[in-house]
Amino acid sequence: MEPNYSIEGLTVNLHITRKCNIRCDYCFAVYKKIPDLSIESWIEILKKLREAKVKKINFSGGEPLVYRGLEKLLKLSRRLEFKTSIVTNGILLSDDWLRDNIENIDIMAVSLDTGNESIQQSLNRGSGNYVTQTKRRFQEIRYWSKELNHPVYLKINTMVNRLNKEDNPLSILLELNPDRVKFLQFCVMEGENDKFAKKLSISEKEFQNYVERVRPSLEKSGITVVSETEEMLWSSYLILDPQGRFCDKRHGKNKFGYSLAKNSLSDSLGSLYSPTDIELIRKKMVERKGLYPL
Ligand code: SF4
Repeated sequence: MEPNYSIEGLTVNLHITRKCNIRCDYCFAVYKKIPDLSIESWIEILKKLREAKVKKINFSGGEPLVYRGLEKLLKLSRRLEFKTSIVTNGILLSDDWLRDNIENIDIMAVSLDTGNESIQQSLNRGSGNYVTQTKRRFQEIRYWSKELNHPVYLKINTMVNRLNKEDNPLSILLELNPDRVKFLQFCVMEGENDKFAKKLSISEKEFQNYVERVRPSLEKSGITVVSETEEMLWSSYLILDPQGRFCDKRHGKNKFGYSLAKNSLSDSLGSLYSPTDIELIRKKMVERKGLYPL
């Protein structure tokens, strides 16, 4: 009997490209080159995920706006009635892009690690005006969301590491007032960002101290706070890499299955996971509040 792999109701993260327009030190997604799939292959993959009753598609990367064809994939995802989200550094978002695409996006997550431009720059994120630019992006997203009468759930993703662990991000976070802030503990991925391990690593205790220092004020303002330790980050996501392969990041290493572009869902999942693994991922996804009430 075929093993039963149910991913109904879950989120699948499409890391559609490893390319990015910037090069943050802590990134664990852009250092090893993996070629991008064609748009036609991603269309096939989206159809397979629809058949599997996946609820939400998250477009990530690298920087998803670098992938030519993202707009078409967002449009198709909307037509297939997925909930959609993107994770972006925001640099390539423009007024025109937002006007043309925002109606196909339910959740926008913008990455921001601090309100302090010099800390942000020392992480090699942007060139000294990243914070200012993020503020502008938030205004533009809100403008088009209102103009087109399309609600967008706004998120900020913050990587907590040795350079920002003593920082106080409350002023910028309260000013931007997103619906949710996700704090992630910096973690080392073998062969990707390990050369920055010494510069950026923090303990789980340091991470929790940072989160608990800022959580009460954020929650008091109605902002949902979620935090992910290294362990949670590796074990609670279903990820397809730029070749459409499920990617298991547990144990700080990338392991890849067969591409969903060329294989059935059960063959693709089964080349990497057992049905029990999938149930554990589902459980952890719920624990980290990864299933949104959308
Ligand atoms: S913006 Fe994101 S994908 Fe690009 S280098 Fe930074 S962390 Fe990596």
